[in-house]
Amino acid sequence: MMGGTFDPIHHGHLVAASEVQHLLGLDEVIFVPTGRPWQKDAGKVSPAEHRYLMTVIATASNPRFSVSRVDIDRPGTTYTIDTLRDLSALDPDAELFFITGADALQQILSWKDADELFELAHFVGVTRPGHVLSDEGLPEKGVTLTEVPAMAISSTDCRARVGGGAPVWYLVPDGVVQYIDKYDLYRRPGTPAAAAP
Ligand code: ATP
Ligand code: MG
Repeated sequence: MMGGTFDPIHHGHLVAASEVQHLLGLDEVIFVPTGRPWQKDAGKVSPAEHRYLMTVIATASNPRFSVSRVDIDRPGTTYTIDTLRDLSALDPDAELFFITGADALQQILSWKDADELFELAHFVGVTRPGHVLSDEGLPEKGVTLTEVPAMAISSTDCRARVGGGAPVWYLVPDGVVQYIDKYDLYRRPGTPAAAAP
């Protein structure tokens, strides 16, 4: 599974998921958009339904990719431990791999419940430009670090580009460019987005 805010989903996310799927021979990758991410200011994150639909659009063409609503349908703040519990309850025999950027991984492993997380999933940290990958402080078991083709794309940058009138073509999938345009997302930061369909 690959968790994220996906506000919006971009080709960095998709390349990372595809690469880890291939390297580890995973059956599938389930993208899990967060409900209310505890690390981010709730008021600044787009409505979950928009983020969910953009993730569906971006992943629809890959037979190994799917999207789960577990986090956006669970009330309250999203914690990774709940995501892992929900996904393993849906398929108790599945072996779970949690794919995350190196930056997010370092945060996760500083949590006090980290031990329990490792019982539920194997963690895979992927490099992203600007984040040095170090295994310092990481447990020996339960974590794999891997390098993916460098993609200096972030959702923050995509939002800023749209806000400033710059194109996001080829940074995000075509359907996501069109979705952002259709619902006028990110154009005027601070104003609420139109409701999702
Ligand atoms: P924001 O700028 O809003 O924080 P983001 O681009 O970091 O957005 P998230 O939805 O926060 O995207 O990221 C979900 C996961 O994908 C995180 O684990 C993050 O580290 C990872 N990730 C994001 N961008 C890339 C990238 N270009 N290459 C590899 N991994 C990435
Ligand atoms: Mg981020």
